[in-house]
Amino acid sequence: MIWDELESGLAELAADGLLRRRRVLDSPCAPECVVDGRAVVSFCSNDYLGFANHPELIAAAQAAAAQWGVGSGASHLVSGHLRPHEEAEQALADFVGFPAAITLSTGYMANLAIVPALVGRGDAVFADKLNHASLIDAVQLSRAESHRYLHGDVAGLAAMLAASTAKRKLILTDAVFSMDGDIAPLPQLYELAERHDARLVIDDAHGFGVLGDNGRGTLSHFDLPADPRVILMGTLGKAAGVAGAFVAADRRVVDWLVNKARAYIFTTAASPILATTVTRSVALIAAADDRRAHLQALVAQLRAGVAELRWNLLPSETAIQPLIIGDNHEALRVAGALFERGLWVPAIRPPTVAKGTARLRISLSAAHTEAQVAQLVDALRALA
Ligand SMILES: *Cc1c(COP(=O)(O)O)cnc(C)c1O
Repeated sequence: MIWDELESGLAELAADGLLRRRRVLDSPCAPECVVDGRAVVSFCSNDYLGFANHPELIAAAQAAAAQWGVGSGASHLVSGHLRPHEEAEQALADFVGFPAAITLSTGYMANLAIVPALVGRGDAVFADKLNHASLIDAVQLSRAESHRYLHGDVAGLAAMLAASTAKRKLILTDAVFSMDGDIAPLPQLYELAERHDARLVIDDAHGFGVLGDNGRGTLSHFDLPADPRVILMGTLGKAAGVAGAFVAADRRVVDWLVNKARAYIFTTAASPILATTVTRSVALIAAADDRRAHLQALVAQLRAGVAELRWNLLPSETAIQPLIIGDNHEALRVAGALFERGLWVPAIRPPTVAKGTARLRISLSAAHTEAQVAQLVDALRALA
């Protein structure tokens, strides 16, 4: 019975063009990679600055393994909080301009750590409808009342906040939306948080390292201060090129998370190799204005190149450039045809995105060359 259910469920996914499978890479994360035995140019990764395979970070990781070993051995509150973790937290807090920070093993866990520690039954969370899955799961885990406002709808959010009688209020948003590439209206969200005495949790997975002065992220992009109401989450496996995540905030909030956040407390601290490498990566991010300028030039080149096709790019100024195809099977067909030409672009389908908006999620990186983007533009033109 349970087997029938799984088999028919999988068959149904396949019939709808929704069955997922994993491709195996036989090369490091880089635009030129080998997948399923084929050399292709990848537009899939979130390695926006090309750091995942950076010689200085590889050297930092090797030196860290020699000095600190590979495992931390325990959770942060027991004996797993090594000097490299402490240094990474301080470097991250200083870089984003908040008083304190903690690091966690993944961004998914960071969101599960933050929300249930700050709100519970009797409280309310106000969340953008296009928020990342980890934020949606975090709200469910918290048991707070969930209010979801239409994507970017500041007026709708204001009305929900005004109508709420909840004890604590928390606004929850991606800074850069992961499947659309657009930027949340953070200045307006700041204002609403202030007016309604709410906290504001910002998930800057795709802005950290890419946007703002020296890559400080989306707050810096808008010139917004490190307000004590704001809890900033950033991931370290995307532009930073390593793995993990951080939460930066007011000192009291960080102390509270250290004491109450279950996804921080009940898990082994990340490897000291990763923590050391993150500290080095923060220094590289700060010095990478040239890479960010190159990335912006590639975004402009792609957008100009596909401006007149029958498929449209969503309006995005970030490294995430989604080309809307619509139909699931059609999106898979186009992705397959690109792959045949040696270009690897992921087709993103429901439930990750809304029905009827299947898309090619083109991710650009400073590691791409103009020639590689030109190759992608030519192929898309030919297929359209
Ligand atoms: C990738 C991502 C996460 C999860 O981060 P991981 O470190 O990959 O677990 C969280 N939020 C957003 C918006 C993301 O894009």
